[in-house]
Amino acid sequence: MNIHDSEKIAGILESMGYAPCDKSEEADVVVFNTCCIRETAEQKIYGHIGALKKLKRANPDLIAVVCGCMSQQDGVAEKIRASYPFVDIVLGTSNLNLLGDAILSAQKKKKYFNVDFTRYREEDFVQSRTSYPNAWVNINFGCNNFCTYCIVPYVRGRERSRPLDDVMTEVRQLLADGYREITLLGQNVNSYGHDLDGGVTFATLLHAIGGLSGKFRLRFMTNHPKDLSRDVIDAIAAHPNICHNIHLPVQSGSTEILRRMNRRYTRDGYFALIDMIRASLPDVGISTDIMVGFPGETEEDFCDTLDLVRRVKFSSAFCFVYSRRKGTPAYSMEDQVPPTVKKDRITRLLACQNAVTKEISQTMIGKNYEVLVEGANFRYKNTMCGRTDGGRLVNFKCDESQIGNFVTVNIERASSATLWGVITEEK
Ligand code: SAH
Ligand code: SF4
Repeated sequence: MNIHDSEKIAGILESMGYAPCDKSEEADVVVFNTCCIRETAEQKIYGHIGALKKLKRANPDLIAVVCGCMSQQDGVAEKIRASYPFVDIVLGTSNLNLLGDAILSAQKKKKYFNVDFTRYREEDFVQSRTSYPNAWVNINFGCNNFCTYCIVPYVRGRERSRPLDDVMTEVRQLLADGYREITLLGQNVNSYGHDLDGGVTFATLLHAIGGLSGKFRLRFMTNHPKDLSRDVIDAIAAHPNICHNIHLPVQSGSTEILRRMNRRYTRDGYFALIDMIRASLPDVGISTDIMVGFPGETEEDFCDTLDLVRRVKFSSAFCFVYSRRKGTPAYSMEDQVPPTVKKDRITRLLACQNAVTKEISQTMIGKNYEVLVEGANFRYKNTMCGRTDGGRLVNFKCDESQIGNFVTVNIERASSATLWGVITEEK
């Protein structure tokens, strides 16, 4: 989502005549598109903002911008105004469309600080796409779920869906422009449409896009286990261009911790969902997000998470250490887990998931997979990478002219998460 927001920022700047540059010393405008989901990201960004002071001294015309969800947090805009006087513009998550006006103001040396929740339309942006052959498409914004650890509902506001026709117009245009993979984005894509007229659901949208002609792939994220319904799985099964790849954040394998997180599903409910998905889509790749060290998490709760990871066999998992976010209910919960325990648990969780990924990778060796050539792997010469339908990243030799093509790759070897193969067929 942040990458896509950055594309919108780039689009506005490019429409004003700015162009990207490699070094901040050469820049006329520096934009920090921030994230405040975890404290470490926030600390890093303050370090980067501080470093602007020197650049601004060397180039007083430099325009410094802070936007993204950190600037939307209570008190942050005031803190930046007081402690970082060289910042010219602060914008929030819902008024990014004002960036053009803000830049014009800053060009006249007038600061522009505005973190009001106003709603923009995607159509307000000239987007600068940077991820060909992949394209991101927002379908809903904000979140109503209020998981007790999470800052997102406070900084991205209430959930709102884009009208179906607007999404379809954007998707059709992207396909006409030659994009080969569309990823639909939302904090909870499964609740798409609940605020729209006409009974539109996420499944309606999947059927509408899945029914478009041409060779392309459709992915989406993120799914919330409490809302992922059979009609969505049926829609995936009905259309060959919808990837068998579901990102389904579990967060914890302990029902008690899930209750305290306000996730509104249980460990058994999650297993039942996985069974339902795999019954319809046997080759599906399921990935997840997991958090360790949530307040009150005991060794037993954590072992339930390890056990769930071994049983579900996720193709990959983003694993996080719980980070205390001011303003969320979990911030003031008792029994915060000590850092040493958190560190021990994340190490064990990563080892556990690595072993699972390795096991799955071994079963893929010798088999053929359709892969979209997505881009260069710059660490190796003449090496491109792309993903299987199930979402696994594969490296293979070929040149850049193949980017955007579908190829068949035979998997030859695997180093845990990374697969290596050879092209056996070009399409
Ligand atoms: N809407 C998505 C997640 C968005 S945030 C969903 O519900 O799945 C992405 C991930 O960051 C979450 O799934 C969670 O694992 C992690 N996360 C969110 N808040 C966090 C916090 N306070 N500390 C650590 N990780 C957090
Ligand atoms: Fe955060 Fe929960 Fe909303 Fe995801 S569903 S953004 S974790 S509150």
